[in-house]
Amino acid sequence: MPNITVDPDLCIGCGLCAEICPEVFEIGDDGQAQVIDENECDQSDCCSEARDSCPTEAIKFE
Ligand code: SF4
Repeated sequence: MPNITVDPDLCIGCGLCAEICPEVFEIGDDGQAQVIDENECDQSDCCSEARDSCPTEAIKFE
């Protein structure tokens, strides 16, 4: 299971990840993406798609 992080220095809050994969990502009160539940990533490929679609490459799998 990957450990998913969003780099706050890179995230521009575009909302794309939350649109692609709302089970895993949401836009927080600070206007940046945050990980809701990385376990959802096991059941869905959308988190990889979200990572690959992020315009600033802020989403990392470790
Ligand atoms: S797609 Fe990338 S830049 Fe856009 S909200 Fe998600 S993490 Fe931030």
